[in-house]
Amino acid sequence: MAFFMLNSDHSRINIPKLKEKAIYWAMSHGILMRTKGTHASSSCSDHAPFALFPSVTLHSLLEEAYSVQVDFNLLIHKVAHDYNFLCNSLKSVIEVDDFTKNMWEIYEATLKQDDKRKQHVNLGIFRSDYMLHCDKGSSSLVIKDFAKHLQLKQIEINTIASSFAGLATNMVSVHRYSMALAGYYEIENQVPNNNPANGLARGMVEAWNFYGKANSVVLFIVSSCERNIFDQKLVEHAIFEINPKISIIRQSLEDICQNGYLNEENKLIIDGLEIAVVYFRDGYSPDSYKSQQDWETRKMIELSFAIKCPSINYHLAGTKKIQQELSRPGVLEKFIPDGSRVQKLRNTFVEQYSLEMTPEGEEAVRLALENPSNYVLKPQREGGGNNIYGHEIKEYLSKIKNSTERTAYILMERIFPFTQKNILLFEKSTDIVDTVSELGIYGIIVGDEHKIHMNEQVGHLMRTKVQGVDEGGISAGFAAIDSPYLV
Ligand code: ADP
Ligand code: MG
Ligand code: MG
Repeated sequence: MAFFMLNSDHSRINIPKLKEKAIYWAMSHGILMRTKGTHASSSCSDHAPFALFPSVTLHSLLEEAYSVQVDFNLLIHKVAHDYNFLCNSLKSVIEVDDFTKNMWEIYEATLKQDDKRKQHVNLGIFRSDYMLHCDKGSSSLVIKDFAKHLQLKQIEINTIASSFAGLATNMVSVHRYSMALAGYYEIENQVPNNNPANGLARGMVEAWNFYGKANSVVLFIVSSCERNIFDQKLVEHAIFEINPKISIIRQSLEDICQNGYLNEENKLIIDGLEIAVVYFRDGYSPDSYKSQQDWETRKMIELSFAIKCPSINYHLAGTKKIQQELSRPGVLEKFIPDGSRVQKLRNTFVEQYSLEMTPEGEEAVRLALENPSNYVLKPQREGGGNNIYGHEIKEYLSKIKNSTERTAYILMERIFPFTQKNILLFEKSTDIVDTVSELGIYGIIVGDEHKIHMNEQVGHLMRTKVQGVDEGGISAGFAAIDSPYLV
């Protein structure tokens, strides 16, 4: 098993040879990313960063993560339909964070819409991310007793552009191959089947069926020079495999501004095609909106009759601020009536604190300044590379502690994940290094305020980074795609 292999008996493995073979297998199976700096129309690509071996994970914790996903889907869905909760939770953020404020204004515009011109069905493609928190220095653990020291702890839940379902699907075969090359053949149960690409596609097909118009199409909103295009293409192809009659078009917000409009029935028409489903793989960060024009385009899409993934209320429900508010005692109960299900969700939470200008906020500032290495400071951003850690928390909070600027952030208790040895194949491969992993579970929900039509857990994503790197994210260049190796 990988855990032992790289800790002790790897001398019999020809690692350079194995790396080369694994890279060819990965590239032949679509583990690709467009080469940095190439033109948008170029298909020139390298392998996406990936871990040479899968990472040891407890089967029971993967099952735990799977088992709570449909309730997390439902929770986000209910939060997204609760105006008062969204408003009370986000009002202090909106005052200081323009990005969230722009989203909020679009949300308010949807509330004023005439019911008949409005699309009531939501499509959620979520990914709930966790680390396996280890309450003991994991380098000293032996495999047989490490289980009792691990707990599944949530990092965040993503409601927009939850990526890597395509590449994660194809990683299974890469890792079965690399393990076999290392002499481990009986591993079908250890590197479990995983097909989130199909799950995402089924969600989109379900939404398309709901829209119910034969020649309507699915629109992927992408950035103009998207490196992660192969991941998106694998999802596109999975839609084709379910229903080859559904066409997919890809456009940026800028393109849509040029080519799109709302017709008299409030249908979104782009290049003469009626859009049934809009799937956002861009639009989650301030950089996605190059001008006010792009915000106008987002608003046009939002007010259209197309089914949005995510709709603006789902997007707002995925902010870090909402997740912090949901972690307060008694709040989950408002949305999920069953006490034992609430307990299972809450077991995955660590402490989170508001940084509003209240006594609670003062206390959070004090905690963070006193012990910055035990916390992460998070703004309302997505995509990796935005959080503040360790001594920088101290510097930053000291500067802004008397300003309302601090309310744009939340403070989260730091999770210390289990570490293990691996080799990560970035542009340049690492040596055998200590790594930590983040496990994501994909969830799909389709429904309106009153009725849920589909609510499923559809597979997982494992991402692994070198221990000591604070940030995460594959596109952001911190992490490599991985698979769990179940024990
Ligand atoms: P984003 O939406 O930008 O991905 P995340 O909340 O996932 O924001 O944070 C980015 C990365 O920071 C995560 O992938 C993880 O590696 C690290 N991180 C976030 N929260 C914590 C935490 N509480 N403890 C330890 N690491 C964290
Ligand atoms: Mg995120
Ligand atoms: Mg994240």
